[in-house]
Amino acid sequence: MSVVSECTGPVSKGPEKHMVHWFRKGLRFHDNPALREGLKGASTFRCVFILDPWFAGSSNVGINKWRFLLQCLEDLDRSLRKMNSRLFVVRGQPADALPKLFKEWGTTSLTFEEDPEPFGRVRDHNIITICQEMGITVIQKVSHTLYYLDHIINRNGGKAPLTYHQFQAVIASMDPPPYAEPPVSAKDMGSIKTPLSEDHDEKYGVPTLEELGFDTEGLLPPVWQGGESEALARLERHLERKAWVASFGRPKMTPQSLLASQTGLSPYLRFGCLSTRLFYYQLTDLYKKIKKSFPPLSLHGQLLWREFFYCAATNNTNFDKMLGNPICVQIPWDKNAEALAKWANGQTGFPWIDAIMTQLREEGWIHHLARHAVVCFLTRGDLWLSWEEGMRVFEELLLDADWSVNAGMWMWLSCSSFFQQFFHYYCPVKFGRKADPNGDYIKKYLPALKNFPTQYIHEPWMAPENVQRTSKCVIGKDYPLPIVNHAIASRINIQRMKQVYQKLANYRNVDVPQKCNNSFENSLVSVNGNHG
Ligand code: FAD
Repeated sequence: MSVVSECTGPVSKGPEKHMVHWFRKGLRFHDNPALREGLKGASTFRCVFILDPWFAGSSNVGINKWRFLLQCLEDLDRSLRKMNSRLFVVRGQPADALPKLFKEWGTTSLTFEEDPEPFGRVRDHNIITICQEMGITVIQKVSHTLYYLDHIINRNGGKAPLTYHQFQAVIASMDPPPYAEPPVSAKDMGSIKTPLSEDHDEKYGVPTLEELGFDTEGLLPPVWQGGESEALARLERHLERKAWVASFGRPKMTPQSLLASQTGLSPYLRFGCLSTRLFYYQLTDLYKKIKKSFPPLSLHGQLLWREFFYCAATNNTNFDKMLGNPICVQIPWDKNAEALAKWANGQTGFPWIDAIMTQLREEGWIHHLARHAVVCFLTRGDLWLSWEEGMRVFEELLLDADWSVNAGMWMWLSCSSFFQQFFHYYCPVKFGRKADPNGDYIKKYLPALKNFPTQYIHEPWMAPENVQRTSKCVIGKDYPLPIVNHAIASRINIQRMKQVYQKLANYRNVDVPQKCNNSFENSLVSVNGNHG
């Protein structure tokens, strides 16, 4: 199956085809069907990335994420040089910048990867209208997700499936996703040229972080290197861990897996340096080699969760909001800027939570279950602050933050949608002790606690004064006191949740959840900790 959304303008400008490929996500040359299609019959081609200067200065994209993006662009530029071409990095808003360039370059054809997210769809609709007025042919193709999401929605009677079970049932009835296309390379270029000027670097070079106005003093070296080349090397390593893949299951937490690994792929899928379909089919092939049979759907479970959230969000412009979001339970969260800032900056006084938030800020990635811990703490577990606030912090700092997956998981874990078992929650001390029994992870990210004895590392406020002094860390002075009494806060919050769900039950005639197990959340440590 290959889904093409093609919009053709009234007349093309002449016999020669001058095409522009517009990179947004999909920062790669493998499995790039829109670019491949656009190159057919072209005389010239230019690959463009538009840096929006307002976006550069906005706080919702952290410095690590910018660095990752710039590395992705440098990698694209390196690949293009091998094709006797270059990347054109352009500053401005797409709706202003593109038409000017089209006129200057005599563009007749524009290609891009179809954006499945509502914001991107609106932007692209505007550009398509402009192109139609200018007589420019537009080709957009689906390659960020496995499936054409509208097909899943149509199959489900016009609505996105809102349970994973339902989602799996729908896709099980569909054709498998299309195969990844081979990489575009120098041999696909034939006589196609990229007109380049002497001052290309000045006009269109990939900028540095400093040129974008970032202060890079004290910036730690990157833990994640952006770019397609790195993504493909990682995919290879990922697949080499055959034994792991063969016994693929839920994300498991070991102290080692809390750290960034050389096989992690999520930032690369987010920026599209790696094709989801390539990953999907390489897993399939590997499974067939090992097990000599066709893989079960569950092998692709994690990737399908990604697809599930993309699908749930694609027609819901308010998916990242509580108000006006038809699938989100309305919860009267507190507002507390100080508590939010302490959480976001790793200063809650709970070392497990603070170490996770420090890793996120410094490196841009945290383990799936570490995400569970900090989300629960901020929302229904301890601080009773809105998931929207936390989601925005993740959006700023997390290299793999997808608009839809991030919002979906925040709703899930705050019991605002998808998941309702609010009786299950995480204790920030017991969960930490289970995941990081010796406190090595905590000591790595919170050097103030590096001399603390293991016995107290997860609740340092319990350490006697002499222990604090000999550890050179007095709690309340060198490391914060806990921001809440966990035992009290979690008890109150469960009651608040119960009230919300009781009201909802009266209103919508739904059941108030009772203590029970939920399949997704088997990994959840549901403990009523006595800490704080
Ligand atoms: P693996 O476990 O190897 O999985 C492979 C790929 O499958 C990932 O790279 C990712 O693309 C996808 N995936 C895995 N788990 C999930 C999941 N639960 N939901 C959707 N897709 C999944 N993942 C994102 O890719 N983008 C996000 O914005 C994102 N936000 C999250 C926010 C919260 C609050 C939580 C709890 C989880 C979030 N996740 C998100 C899911 C998950 O934590 C990461 O995908 C995972 O940690 C990435 O590590 P990995 O590359 O080792 O993934």
